[in-house]
Amino acid sequence: MSECTFCKIVNGEIPSYKVYEDRYILAFLDRNPVHEGHTLVIPKKHSETILDTDDETLRKLVVATRKISKAIYKSLKLKGFNIGINQFKVAGQAVPHLHIHIMPRHENDGLRLWPSREYESELEKMKVLEKIRKLLK
Ligand code: AMP
Ligand code: ZN
Repeated sequence: MSECTFCKIVNGEIPSYKVYEDRYILAFLDRNPVHEGHTLVIPKKHSETILDTDDETLRKLVVATRKISKAIYKSLKLKGFNIGINQFKVAGQAVPHLHIHIMPRHENDGLRLWPSREYESELEKMKVLEKIRKLLK
């Protein structure tokens, strides 16, 4: 038996408020929403992050996320929404089962995106570019 909270939701061991379900994907209301309708979309098959998820599952997850987002966007008459995935603990991932947040947004709703900064130099920019590109060749 899995110790993973979201696997338990998939198996029906923990109740959830289901928004959508098919063979591969489950979507349910986040129990602590940023706004009403905040939904989590997960693959039924356990993986922790996008890094250990197979391509086919990832495709299904993204396509289902679009479908569910569209329904949330229209039915709740939203002005917009954020899609978010926290990857690993340091980035705020509390549940180690891949999940996509669909977060409804409203005009002047007070939510703020992450802070940003300027690169300190051209060198800093070039160094990081080089490191990343090396692994993409
Ligand atoms: P994250 O920080 O990206 O891992 O997000 C985990 C999310 O899962 C949080 O927004 C929690 O509110 C939500 N969550 C945790 N347990 C449950 C649960 N049993 N039912 C619904 N949402 C949950
Ligand atoms: Zn799991």
